[in-house]
Amino acid sequence: MGLSGLEIFKYLPAAKKAEHTNCKECSCPTCMAFAMKLSKNSIDINACPYTPKELISKFEFETKQPQKTITISGLNIGGENVLYRHEKTFINKTAIAILIDTNSKDWQKTLKEIEEFELRRVDESMKIDLIVFKGEIEPQTTLNHISLDELKKLDIDIIEDGKFSKTAQELIYRREKAIKEKDEKYSNPTCVYFKSNLSPSQLCAKASFYICKYANMILFEDFNKALISTLMTLRQNIFTDPQKPLQVEAKVYEFNNPDENSLIFMTTNFALTFYAVASELESLSVPSYLLVTPAEGMSVLTAWSAEKFTAKLVAKTLKDWHFKERVKNRKIIIPGLLAHMKEELEEELPDFKIVIGTIDAYDISDFVKNLT
Ligand code: SF4
Repeated sequence: MGLSGLEIFKYLPAAKKAEHTNCKECSCPTCMAFAMKLSKNSIDINACPYTPKELISKFEFETKQPQKTITISGLNIGGENVLYRHEKTFINKTAIAILIDTNSKDWQKTLKEIEEFELRRVDESMKIDLIVFKGEIEPQTTLNHISLDELKKLDIDIIEDGKFSKTAQELIYRREKAIKEKDEKYSNPTCVYFKSNLSPSQLCAKASFYICKYANMILFEDFNKALISTLMTLRQNIFTDPQKPLQVEAKVYEFNNPDENSLIFMTTNFALTFYAVASELESLSVPSYLLVTPAEGMSVLTAWSAEKFTAKLVAKTLKDWHFKERVKNRKIIIPGLLAHMKEELEEELPDFKIVIGTIDAYDISDFVKNLT
């Protein structure tokens, strides 16, 4: 993760009140300025002739990439820097690959099924990341593909899945060696290769663990839509950046062909809230609009406390969307958690009456029944 400016400063003459303190030979005004620049990699460590050897070797260790990244037709595999997502973030999600043997009878049918497979979840479209083929024929496909022989030549360590505890321990051992010790022997990304001798539930349990800890790629011999969908859903949750909330596009969403008199709901663009509300509105037999305001992916209360959901911002957003002109209905239903904003919203949106909605999305159906 690199050394911070303060950690670097501790080794420099100024921190030790030694000779050459703030001598400017590095072209920085002070040792502290040099330390700050070095922490951002914007100056060469050798610019200071008084850097102790201890700092040089520590710096070299910290800046060394622990795990290699390999790229197959634009697909990046590996390159991880941390053991736990919350330390920073994971870099490249575990690639999901399917092996196709072009000597087998039904390989073209399987390839077609794989090509047609797509999972859409939280605004992301997911497809099989890689086809690994063996046999004489190279499949004609728009998906990323590579032969098994070529894959074996890359800097990726292929581990054949065996006893669960053995494979799991090996993955953990390798990742810890790579990250904690930056041991070059373990810097290759890892691929777990599943042979077709397990049931889907066994495959699912094992592969789920390996996605969490610490396979960079998983290769299956069979294509099973339900299994892949489950693993992709899990993977999507693991490989999100914890510093960036999942969010959806801020805009007016329509459910069940609304017209100018339809119900109008409002929420923020936090993905989980959006999908909870959207699935309720979709399942109603009543047409409606959902106004999803921009709030950097924060949930309604967080957005309100961070001033990302203020009456002024909401009014501006609706004005930008020319929403007033689209509808005759003059009632907007806001989340129950924002009941305290009713008056200020009505002040900023004089053309609309504000109705306090439910706290939980699953109560929307009853709420709507009571409205009509
Ligand atoms: Fe400090 Fe070294 Fe820069 Fe001199 S050359 S100011 S000792 S960091």
